[in-house]
Amino acid sequence: MASLAVFDFDRTIVNDDSDATIINRLREKKPPPEWEAGSHDWTPYMSNVFEHAYSAGLHPDDILDSIASMLPNPGIVELITTLHEEGWDVLVLTDANSVFVKHWLKEHGLQDAVKEVVTNRAFWKNDRLYIEPCMHQTSCPRCPSNLCKSLALAQWCDSKNYQRYIYSGDGRNDYCPATNLPANAIVFPRRGFPMYDLIKKTMSSINPQIKAKVVPWDDGFTIMDELFPGKSQVFKKSKA
Ligand SMILES: [Mg+2]
Ligand SMILES: [Zn+2]
Repeated sequence: MASLAVFDFDRTIVNDDSDATIINRLREKKPPPEWEAGSHDWTPYMSNVFEHAYSAGLHPDDILDSIASMLPNPGIVELITTLHEEGWDVLVLTDANSVFVKHWLKEHGLQDAVKEVVTNRAFWKNDRLYIEPCMHQTSCPRCPSNLCKSLALAQWCDSKNYQRYIYSGDGRNDYCPATNLPANAIVFPRRGFPMYDLIKKTMSSINPQIKAKVVPWDDGFTIMDELFPGKSQVFKKSKA
């Protein structure tokens, strides 16, 4: 029976935020002033950003190179590779988009280690990037309509019989799935980020919403040491 390791992408696998990386790249191109204000619904907003990237002459290669240049958090590549070697299913579950995430994973040699990327679907058409919401949900009031990670995770796990679960993330939208994980799961919130703050808050309340074990992380080696004691030393030694 396999086990499942779920990773958020932005500020978890990579240290940065992929959407912000492209928005900053676009700022260098001096887009028309009106695009920065506006919608707070994220997928239409990013769709807008991509439209301006296109009209500002930002080529697909410029966008993809910016994405590929984002650095992984220390130990994360080693962690995902190890999980895959140990027979875990690795799922990337993110509110970014399929084009950015799959390109980054390929450029960083993780394409085969990751079983699936669940995210908003993006595609190129005549050098312009388009994005479609991952889902249209109204049942979870905590999450935006385009993605509730609890719902996405439940769909993924349906008819799969996982032995254990781990979940690593940093953001507000990683808190929702963390509250639905069973007691034998381990939740890894990135220390000092919103998911960590929300978990700390519920754990100190009378009725904590988290059943899983909670282990805060600063880098991928913290997570590796929890799952495979002593294993991180192998990587640290080979680097030294
Ligand atoms: Mg994130
Ligand atoms: Zn939710």
